[in-house]
Amino acid sequence: MPEEQNMAKITLQNIKHSYLRQPVESQDYALKEVDAVWSNGGAYALLGPSGCGKTTLLNIISGLLTPSEGRVFFDDNDVTDIPTIERRIAQIFQFPVVYDTMTVFDNLAFPLRNRGVAEDKVKLRVNEVAVMLDLEDSLKRRASGLTADGKQKISLGRGLVREDVNVIMFDEPLTVIDPHLKWLLRSKLKELHQQLGITMIYVTHDQTEALTFADRVLVMYDGTVVQVGTPVDLFERPGHTFVGHFIGSPGMNILPCEIRDGAASFAGNVLQTASPLPTADNERVEVGVRPEFVRFDDSGFAVEIVKIDDLGRYKIVVVRCNDSTLKMIVDEDIRIPSESPRISFDPEYTRLYTDGWVVE
Ligand code: ADP
Ligand code: MG
Repeated sequence: MPEEQNMAKITLQNIKHSYLRQPVESQDYALKEVDAVWSNGGAYALLGPSGCGKTTLLNIISGLLTPSEGRVFFDDNDVTDIPTIERRIAQIFQFPVVYDTMTVFDNLAFPLRNRGVAEDKVKLRVNEVAVMLDLEDSLKRRASGLTADGKQKISLGRGLVREDVNVIMFDEPLTVIDPHLKWLLRSKLKELHQQLGITMIYVTHDQTEALTFADRVLVMYDGTVVQVGTPVDLFERPGHTFVGHFIGSPGMNILPCEIRDGAASFAGNVLQTASPLPTADNERVEVGVRPEFVRFDDSGFAVEIVKIDDLGRYKIVVVRCNDSTLKMIVDEDIRIPSESPRISFDPEYTRLYTDGWVVE
């Protein structure tokens, strides 16, 4: 790979990975089929529940793992077989990696000295990074005396100290961090991204962290990337029912749907949706609508109110229709009907899903 040139993008092509020696079925794969592109300078999040394959994916990008199948490209260069050290990637792990017997300064200096950077330059960079992370006052202290938060800051600092990196990857870096510091560090990382303009990939299972940090979010589920989009895309146009219910609070309502006589209906009520009708007839069809897009409407269909949770500025109302319950988010100034409530879905934000995937 050319040494000095800055990388423009990372491409994963048909990546599959199994930790088994002889994988047979789909569930033997930690990554089932991943295609993804990260462009230069972006702030990305990789969001998904524990065990969905996030760390596996990062390790394939950094070269700690060689994928069972598929190729990794940095720009047009195939780096699949290139060792980690030559990939110019900084990876920050979930649990801090620090050298307890060294001072904070020496810990931060380590990646630079390791690469033969001149000592005056080391001093300069370490001090800059220490300022970014508010570590100036503890540079002379031994790392062993620090709290978990302090140690994770050192880990972050070690990722940020190198100037030769193409991408910085954070693997759930705030897991061990105290809640109030979490918020601070998260804003700090966002600020650093704007300052440094380096591609950052932030891995988390926490939607708030992902949506506040990233311009683009890759949502992973069970070894696949189910949607790539801006936070608004994921909210307004979930591409998979998993995205709908994983993102949002509460998540999207996913209801049984019938296709009959050229119309989609839920519990016998014909619906207008933003999706065309599905063509295949052997798939499970569902309708998805977020609680924000369900409203009381006298010309809608009849429901029964099950429960009202008053959260101040809005209420979460649980209603039942036949055997299904669904949630609605209702502004504080909306009157909740006490008799024969009826509701409707906003057609623009109501979509059909077949076997989990949106119909478009
Ligand atoms: P995440 O980071 O999203 O929690 P991982 O990439 O760590 O997910 O794991 C994905 C799947 O691969 C899980 O089922 C996990 O148990 C399995 N796995 C991860 N690392 C190993 C390993 N070293 N050996 C065997 N299985 C692993
Ligand atoms: Mg992980």
